[in-house]
Amino acid sequence: MTLPRQFAQIPRFRLLYPDPSPIHPLQALTTSLTTNNQTPRVSLYAKREDHSSPLACAGNKYRKLEYLIPDILNPTPPTPNSAINGGATAPGKVTTLVTEGAVQSNHTIQVASVAQRLGLVCVVILHKGTSGGLAAARDKDAFLRVGNVQVAKLLGAEVRVLEPSPQEKNTDPVIDTLDELGAHGKVPYWIPSGASLHPLGGLGYARAAFEIAAQEERASQDGDLGGSGRYDYIFVACGSGSTVGGLIAGFKLLEKSSQTQAHPPRKIIGILNSPTMPCSYHEERVLRFARMAGGLIGLDPEKDITMDDVCLDDRFTGTAYGVLDPESKQYLNMMAQKEGVILDPVYTAKIVRGLVHWVQQGELGRDWAQRATTTHSGQVNALFIHTGGQSALPAYADIV
Ligand SMILES: *Cc1c(COP(=O)(O)O)cnc(C)c1O
Repeated sequence: MTLPRQFAQIPRFRLLYPDPSPIHPLQALTTSLTTNNQTPRVSLYAKREDHSSPLACAGNKYRKLEYLIPDILNPTPPTPNSAINGGATAPGKVTTLVTEGAVQSNHTIQVASVAQRLGLVCVVILHKGTSGGLAAARDKDAFLRVGNVQVAKLLGAEVRVLEPSPQEKNTDPVIDTLDELGAHGKVPYWIPSGASLHPLGGLGYARAAFEIAAQEERASQDGDLGGSGRYDYIFVACGSGSTVGGLIAGFKLLEKSSQTQAHPPRKIIGILNSPTMPCSYHEERVLRFARMAGGLIGLDPEKDITMDDVCLDDRFTGTAYGVLDPESKQYLNMMAQKEGVILDPVYTAKIVRGLVHWVQQGELGRDWAQRATTTHSGQVNALFIHTGGQSALPAYADIV
């Protein structure tokens, strides 16, 4: 896989395996969704970001963190924004990574494991108020102890579980923690939720776009990928937003530098997993993150990336963040029992539900018919990105 020069020059600290995370067909799911004379024929695949790294409980955050580490090891001087968007919040050699998430956050354990890898201390702030999962859990005590909470502790992180803060309270627990660490002579480095606000947070998935393109080429040569020879649709979770944003930027750069315009551009569909904020909030963020990454890798952010590139679907969020609705649960079970693939209850179960809906209801077919060139109109390839998260399952022990 080769990256364009400007992109290739951005420093990256490898956390992933040298080989790309595998892509495999979802045979049983494809068969179950294919009706005889359906056009176009849809073939489904999964890219296993849950098998991307030897570090604990692999998931999509490692890919993002690869591009943050050079800045952790050799930090740019702190600015007032560092305590919001991320970065070192005091001058000197970083001693402590600080991050936050919901109680069963996957992001925080990936940060904890990176801290381990770098020989740094990790402080994890878990917000009881963020997780609908906690409110819905029958065994709240277990929800606060098992799954990712246990893993974070095993990884040596200092876990601080915070009560929901009353509206009138003016203090910010993150700022308080950063200040406290500073007062004790530590040099904290702040990594915001999902690393998405961080200026370098979108680069990992911009690089993933090039990895996917290289895998497409290989699979086409081997005769394993028909149709356009591409994953025409990519279904991925949209939580904090830089996974989708990074992919948009990366594929944009690929399209821009590719010689042939014989195929319609790949379409990235971000499936929202939380109804807390309106879709427009996420669209604005994803556009911002895509442009931020785009600017770094050689695109003209404003001109090359627009809202037309952002496609988010908010129909599959269920009732709350971190709560598995009965429909999504059906797909968690189905993927386990038909494919032998374990999804997670917070993100990927909702994505597979969305993917199945797009295929079953003919939405994908209609979209493709509008955009496809006649050569490839009969067959379409869709890729589901499995972003990990299974380590939260013990906290959802009632789900079977
Ligand atoms: C964090 C996470 C996501 C969402 O990724 P964002 O970049 O925050 O949108 C999806 N799936 C899993 C399993 C995650 O942990």
